[in-house]
Amino acid sequence: MGRTKEKRISRLKKKRIWPSIVGLFFVLIFFVVVILVGLGLVVVEVTNRKLTEGYERSLKAAELYKENEADLLTNPNNPFLLYLDITDEIDAISVVSENGEGQWSSNGQYPDISLASMADFYFLGNNSPIHIILEADENVVYFDSDNSLMVNETLLVSMVGNNLFHVFLDSTESVFDFSICFLMPAGSDTVCVTNHISVYGYDVQMLLFFMAIVILLVGVFTLYYIISFIGMMVNQRRTTKIIYTDLLTGGDNWMYFTKKSKKLIRKVGAKRKYAVIHLRMKKYRSFCTCFGINKGEELIERLYYTIKKQLRRKETMAHYEKADFGLLLTYTDELELATRLERMVQNLEGVFPNIKLKYRIGVCEVENSRANVEELYNNALLAREMHGDDNEQKIAFFNIEMSKQRIWERKVEDDMERALMNKEFQVYLQPKFSTGEETLGGAEALVRWIHPTEGFVPPNRFIPIFEQNGFILKLDDFMLEEVAKQQAKWISEGWKVVPISVNVSRAHFTREDLAEHICEIVDRYQVPHNVIELELTESAFFDDKEMLLSTVKKLRDAGFSVSMDDFGAGYSSLNSLKELSLDVLKIDADFFRGTDSLDRGMLIVTEVINLAKKLNMKIVAEGIESREQVDFLKEQECDLIQGYYFAKPMPLGEFEKTYKNVGQEEMDKQE
Ligand code: C2E
Ligand code: CA
Ligand code: CA
Repeated sequence: MGRTKEKRISRLKKKRIWPSIVGLFFVLIFFVVVILVGLGLVVVEVTNRKLTEGYERSLKAAELYKENEADLLTNPNNPFLLYLDITDEIDAISVVSENGEGQWSSNGQYPDISLASMADFYFLGNNSPIHIILEADENVVYFDSDNSLMVNETLLVSMVGNNLFHVFLDSTESVFDFSICFLMPAGSDTVCVTNHISVYGYDVQMLLFFMAIVILLVGVFTLYYIISFIGMMVNQRRTTKIIYTDLLTGGDNWMYFTKKSKKLIRKVGAKRKYAVIHLRMKKYRSFCTCFGINKGEELIERLYYTIKKQLRRKETMAHYEKADFGLLLTYTDELELATRLERMVQNLEGVFPNIKLKYRIGVCEVENSRANVEELYNNALLAREMHGDDNEQKIAFFNIEMSKQRIWERKVEDDMERALMNKEFQVYLQPKFSTGEETLGGAEALVRWIHPTEGFVPPNRFIPIFEQNGFILKLDDFMLEEVAKQQAKWISEGWKVVPISVNVSRAHFTREDLAEHICEIVDRYQVPHNVIELELTESAFFDDKEMLLSTVKKLRDAGFSVSMDDFGAGYSSLNSLKELSLDVLKIDADFFRGTDSLDRGMLIVTEVINLAKKLNMKIVAEGIESREQVDFLKEQECDLIQGYYFAKPMPLGEFEKTYKNVGQEEMDKQE
């Protein structure tokens, strides 16, 4: 999978999960801040209220005491005492003299006034607004009745004057139910009023209400976020599933295959070997044409699950396109893998019992853990392609030569047009010699590519490529034209020329006007047709027979010699001879190769020569390299010999230099 593709997918999958999490985090922080601020405000409010009430009560109590002071010491029924009894909030009232001695107490106890000097609270009363100053560690925190909060030590000092009342907490009590003593100066005495202060539910109901709302909101938001987060996760899983599902098979798709394969092959090592497989069902298109698209799709699905069933652990596969599948298989050695694949193919052949299905497989072994899976698949595909669809062998293993060949093919295709324009293709001529006098009796035109960077390129490196891509049509026309031009030149120079044969690829036999086309080229140079011979390879006889027969007839009627090249190299030579009358038979060089079958080869050659003679054909033996072969062919009355024994193919200039004079002498002799 390409980098951009990977990025695109991960972007799709990442879809906005982080913003939600961050959003949730901020919302929670916001609520915590709101709760804390609200809490602070409520605490200040409640405290102020409670302290104000306490102060006012204490002031009233101190005033009442002062009014009743004289009577109190003697009269146990003084109304002030009654007042103390009915006032819930006041626990006790006691009077202390200037030097700290207890004067009178409603409950007989005196608070520890010394505590007031290190009091937790100072209470500033009288006409001024209510101030509470808290000593908290080293800082002094100052509240006033406006609920504003400050830290100011000098303020405290400035306030410690006439109006200072000490307030201190009885720290043994709980926070929600505690006592505070207000010390009020009363003449030379200090009146200590101990207040019982309780913070009841209704005191904090505002706080509770506020908290409830905040908790509710937090709950709703959190729930919303959790639900949307879960939804997002589900969506993300669904998106991932869609991204990695093949719609045709319902199984893993190609993207998932490459992703998983990438992970699996990381483990490649001495213990675990992997191979990437390209598997193709042949003729899927014609299957769809015959049985319909739906059946075609059903077939793909069946193939997918049939293969999938045969996978082992840590293996994977996916449908690629049309009827192509990619597999990543483990294996121990090539033989084991080939046997397993054969078995797989057998199972696939039976997917539709009544329909014959054929498969071809390319295999590329994974050599390192960092290899690119798609490249490996391409290599496997290349192996299958190079092996040829018609090959009996179903399985082809990739090797590096194949990719070199593919690179070469691309180069040839890129360069061929330019090469033709720049005259990089050159005509070489290989002489044919008569067996009797051993004199020049003809020649074959063979192409050579003088490539600017590759140098001299022999035809077997580019002719098969041109035959595949159709460029052979242009090249053969060029060769024919060059030969016609050369013959015209030699004729005009008075040389009695020998027939020169040119190769006509089977690809030409698709055009109906081939014979007319050939005549047109040759006639451009006004060359007599009998000095041009046309070599058809035997394989041309497998194509459109009607077309071949009519073209050959037209060419022969026009005066060209037509020969069957490479006779014996194919399978149905004899049959072709039956159907087609030709002028020349070129016996393939293979009959003269090898040692074991040489005698049998010679026997066949003898018979072929006899047969050709009876059919009134001239015989040319190709690839003759030794004197013995020449003598043998002479004995068999073969007409012409072409081979390295006499001469290799040579450039036109060299041919002219070597044979023009000889040809002239021959001509003179004959005259
Ligand atoms: P072909 O038509 O059978 O040509 C004969 C091949 O045998 C030539 O190979 C020639 O060089 C080689 N040969 C001749 N005598 C001997 C010998 O004694 N020993 C050995 N080992 N080889 C010998 P070349 O030139 O490499 O051409 C190969 C093939 O390429 C040709 O086989 C022909 O099929 C194709 N070809 C060459 N030129 C053209 C062309 O212009 N058009 C087409 N369509 N095909 C061409
Ligand atoms: Ca030939
Ligand atoms: Ca040949």
